[in-house]
Amino acid sequence: MIADKHWFTEALEDEGLAFSMKISKKLHEEQTEFQRIEVYQTTHWGRLMVIDGCVMLSSRDNFVYHEMMAHPVLYTHPNPKRVLIIGGGDCGLLREVLKHPGISQVTQVDIDEGVTRAAREYFPELCESNDDPRATLLFDDGVKYLQDLPAQSVDVVIVDSTDPVGPAAGLFGVGFMRDVHRALREDGLMIQQSESPILHRDSILKELYGVMREAGFAQVATLSFPVVGYPSGWWSATMAGKGAKLTEYREADAATKPFATEYYNVDIHRGALAVPEFCKGLFTDQ
Ligand code: SAM
Repeated sequence: MIADKHWFTEALEDEGLAFSMKISKKLHEEQTEFQRIEVYQTTHWGRLMVIDGCVMLSSRDNFVYHEMMAHPVLYTHPNPKRVLIIGGGDCGLLREVLKHPGISQVTQVDIDEGVTRAAREYFPELCESNDDPRATLLFDDGVKYLQDLPAQSVDVVIVDSTDPVGPAAGLFGVGFMRDVHRALREDGLMIQQSESPILHRDSILKELYGVMREAGFAQVATLSFPVVGYPSGWWSATMAGKGAKLTEYREADAATKPFATEYYNVDIHRGALAVPEFCKGLFTDQ
């Protein structure tokens, strides 16, 4: 990270890339047991949350990511009731999941309560559903939590984690995937933030496909979408399922969704599944 009092910059030396956002003030800084959390006031993008030097979200553009991590997988599942979120401590994803009236129970397991404390103070709009009676917020290691989860106990698992380093590294491993596979019902689905197609096709994305298949997932499909603050601005989320093709989803329900979104709609869902030529052969099920 390049320190400058007017700009926050996240630099990826090994990609020759850097991303900057103009800031006016640092609002928060905390070294928790797990990671370093910073919050800035920006000049044009609202507030900015950073964990271990990496952009997590800004007030102005987080809707794209949170909507794409929630709605495609929930409209792909035939009738989602019980949802588990691993990570997601800023609670923006939780708010989107709870918009689905058919959901009966959402458990969110983030390793670091400091993230949710910071979100409550600086991003209250993301936490507006935290007191929904269907929501349970736990603070634990997602790897450990999945190990103890009973088989066939959830419909959808959403992994909204930091990059596969530090505390999140285990969330990209085959042992974790096997535990997710076991915890999901037969028509269960998972989705995981899967980094950038243009930066990570041959690394993180390829490895994720490998461990999902090794864990027994028959179907794997990647959605791509823009995230201004993430490296390259081109991001992805990868779904995995035990049976049905992931390119089939409840189009009529998605087209008549009973809640507002700013990015997701039935056409965006279809478009996000399109496979760029350079990813053909990797995104094999689409
Ligand atoms: N959208 C962001 C991204 O793509 O980098 C992620 C946002 S969310 C703030 C990431 C969360 O993952 C953090 O709150 C962090 O505490 C959590 N996390 C990291 N490792 C974890 C683990 N092993 N178990 C549970 N949560 C974890």
